Amino acid sequence: MSISYWQDHSKGQIIECDICVIGGGIAGLSAVYWLQKEDPSLKISLIEKGALGSGATGRNAGFITCGSVEHFNRLVCTHGKDKALEIWRFSELNLELLKQEIIEPLNLDLKNYSSTYPQGFVGTNPQGFVGTNPQGLCIGFEQKGSFSLASTEEEFNELKQSHDLMKTMGIKVDVLNENEIKTRLGAENFVGGIKYIDDASVHPIKLIEVIKSRVLKNPNIKVYEHHEVFNVDQLGENKVIHTQHKQFHSPFIVLATNAYSPLLDDYFKDKIYPTRGQILCTEAVPPFMEGPCYANFVLDYFRQLPTGEMIIGGFRQLQKDSEIGYADHTSDVIQNALEEFLDKHIPTVRGKKITHRWSGIMGFSADGQPMIGSLPKDPQVFFSGGFTAHGLGLAFHSGKCLTDLIFDRPIPEFISARRF
Ligand SMILES: Cc1cc2nc3c(=O)[nH]c(=O)nc-3n(C[C@H](O)[C@H](O)[C@H](O)COP(=O)(O)OP(=O)(O)OC[C@H]3O[C@@H](n4cnc5c(N)ncnc54)[C@H](O)[C@@H]3O)c2cc1C
Repeated sequence: MSISYWQDHSKGQIIECDICVIGGGIAGLSAVYWLQKEDPSLKISLIEKGALGSGATGRNAGFITCGSVEHFNRLVCTHGKDKALEIWRFSELNLELLKQEIIEPLNLDLKNYSSTYPQGFVGTNPQGFVGTNPQGLCIGFEQKGSFSLASTEEEFNELKQSHDLMKTMGIKVDVLNENEIKTRLGAENFVGGIKYIDDASVHPIKLIEVIKSRVLKNPNIKVYEHHEVFNVDQLGENKVIHTQHKQFHSPFIVLATNAYSPLLDDYFKDKIYPTRGQILCTEAVPPFMEGPCYANFVLDYFRQLPTGEMIIGGFRQLQKDSEIGYADHTSDVIQNALEEFLDKHIPTVRGKKITHRWSGIMGFSADGQPMIGSLPKDPQVFFSGGFTAHGLGLAFHSGKCLTDLIFDRPIPEFISARRF
């Protein structure tokens, strides 16, 4: 966005801070979380053009899964066994960190609400948390594992290869046959699959609301929603970050703008690609699925929410050309394919009402791995992005690594932007 002289109301409205984080999705909030944990005295401003989570973070399917965009056997082919295992362990630690830092402390918070939020309660409490207590279910967090399902023998063979490789490396995984898929997942027309035992899922907006409330306990952290950054320039030691309402002066910037990063700096133009994803949601039905599922080489995905609704996304492959860019709308071709998929594979929701359809813009990196680094032309501008449809599985740990980088500590090579 650009703004005119007439629209600029920022004169005299100057906020001084130590670090400015631009982008209020899971990556931006994770960066703020780890930076303030590292040094609580840092004055940090988080600037977001819409509401927090209005980018991909509030539009995803809520899977917190390990690994990357491809089956493990392919990851091993591309990177070798050691690197593939390192990539897997990175996302495993992402989930562990989310549990330790964000989800488990929720049980303590919930004790404060015990009069209105008794043991076993299901619903919405006055603080707006939805779900059951304890164990962080108020943010829809469930650790039931996830499944990859094959509708062809060819894919099932790859999944079995992945299973065997993973077992030898100590990763918890199981094989399922066609019948087990029917009984445990209520899914038909799959020849087999594997279960990643430790994966989880969450209500993504509630997750970032909790991270926000955690960081705002530190009075040095300020969050500015509905402030779009339209320009950044330099004034002495400081960057000047221009929004329509305020200017922010800060020596350091973190860009957590993911898909939108190429709009702020040309460096990202051949490194982070805006890619659209679409989802639909049905009315609720009684619980019937053991856990969230991927299908068709991780391109399509579906899960039943703790409240009974079914969501399904994917089929980007049908409109490869138009699913690139920033246009945030759904298409008939993909939405029809999602409906046909449900009809073919999930008999329990056949004919059920579709209540929501939406799309979101993800940032894909060239090799499918996150990109953490600083701009070659300005090492005081850091960034964290390129999560390639796996931000919930990667961004919290990436925020910790970004903090390591800012404080001059090493980060894993496979997420370092220096690899490009
Ligand atoms: C349909 C769909 C399904 C998905 N399913 C999953 C899933 O199940 N599991 C999973 O792990 N991942 C999933 N993803 C991917 C996941 O949502 C992303 O990887 C993750 O949200 C990226 O987080 P982020 O904070 O980097 O980006 P975003 O959430 O996009 O945050 C970037 C923020 O920057 C803000 N911004 C941009 N430009 C400016 C500016 N100039 N000034 C101020 N603010 C600005 C944007 O408004 C936005 O809020 C899915 C994505 C989509 C679209």
